[in-house]
Amino acid sequence: MSALTRSFRYIFVPVMMTFICIAAAQHFKDVWQVWLPNIIELPYYLLPVAAILALQFNFTRLSLLAILLLAYYGYEQGVFIDYLADNIRNQIFLSGSLIIGFFSISRDRALFSFHTVKTVAGIGLCFAIGSTWQIFTLKIGSPTVLDIPPAINLLTPLYIPVGISSIIVCIYAVWRASLIDSVLVVTLFSWLFLYYVPNGLPLPLLLSLVATAYICVVIAESYHLAYRDDLTGLSSRRALNTMSLSLNSHYSVAMVDIDHFKNFNDTYGHDVGDQVLQLIASKLTKVKGSGKVYRYGGEEFTIVFPNKDVEIILPHLDELRCKIRDYDIVLRNELRKSSNKSDRKAKEENHSTTVNVTISIGVAEHHGQLTFAQTLKLADKALYIAKKNGRNRVFA
Ligand code: GH3
Ligand code: MG
Ligand code: MG
Repeated sequence: MSALTRSFRYIFVPVMMTFICIAAAQHFKDVWQVWLPNIIELPYYLLPVAAILALQFNFTRLSLLAILLLAYYGYEQGVFIDYLADNIRNQIFLSGSLIIGFFSISRDRALFSFHTVKTVAGIGLCFAIGSTWQIFTLKIGSPTVLDIPPAINLLTPLYIPVGISSIIVCIYAVWRASLIDSVLVVTLFSWLFLYYVPNGLPLPLLLSLVATAYICVVIAESYHLAYRDDLTGLSSRRALNTMSLSLNSHYSVAMVDIDHFKNFNDTYGHDVGDQVLQLIASKLTKVKGSGKVYRYGGEEFTIVFPNKDVEIILPHLDELRCKIRDYDIVLRNELRKSSNKSDRKAKEENHSTTVNVTISIGVAEHHGQLTFAQTLKLADKALYIAKKNGRNRVFA
């Protein structure tokens, strides 16, 4: 699966989930209608919980959105949506859509920073654009003032800014490929549903679903922060320790270490070193034999092969070692430093801008009463011997 196809999951999955949730909520109408008096209160609890949780992890955009949705809900509780003047309803809808679009292009920063001032100014600007657009369309006698349901009125100029905002939200969700950006897609589609199908679902239920999505995303992201290595995207050492508790007594482990990596950093710089670590990490994940790769720390990785003997995995590890040894790494940073196109081309053609790195691997198999930590230590000892014997080799 290509990286772009993978990124597209960040819109398809949330959009599908939004529709499935809405369809399920409509299907089980009889069930929740009994609870409706309680559901009315639910957004008042769920949205603040989502806002506070999001803030804990500096997901300021989610936090601010939850607060804005809460304010909107409070407002709607005062004046029921069906009785809102159509132009005010349009104005809120347009401003809300623009704010979601604005949030998708901005970034999360600490709440107490100048960035928050800019974000608040951006929200104000979205409201101002929403109002101006409304006044403008009223003046030119747009069809939005006609008594036509917005879903049928395809000519309404609201489609233009809302459409642009929606495209921006979707593009950024694919580009950034993060759960936070996915949940912005969920917010947008719920917002569109609320406007275009006003009697589709009660507002408190829809907002409760959105708030639940926020809470789930914050929990998933916090799990990610704890168990994922930021640089390589691999599972972290903490994840390795947690996973080791679920292993049975039949498994093998491999410790992988990049050879002379300090020299590499000293020669090409730490940034290039980081890129090489990412590259090696992605190559390691392609290991055969159902090995699961973890970043142990620094330039060391651990591969765990559940239910596998050493003899079975040795050829896979040696194949991996050869693939990495033979892979010509192009130092893109070196090339990018040059802004001149022809200069860059010359560099590409004439200069040796490719390098190779090698890895050493130590392997051990669990046996007897050994703990996971002890088995890992055996693999580490084997790695030490592989290094001592000249590096770029696998030792069991
Ligand atoms: P050996 O072949 O014996 O393993 O030699 P080595 O130089 O690879 O081993 P050593 O342990 O002396 O150095 C490891 C180096 O890995 C030191 C550090 O510069 C580099 N390193 C560790 N973590 C990172 C990282 O996240 N990014 C970069 N760029 N370098 C890292
Ligand atoms: Mg090392
Ligand atoms: Mg090393």
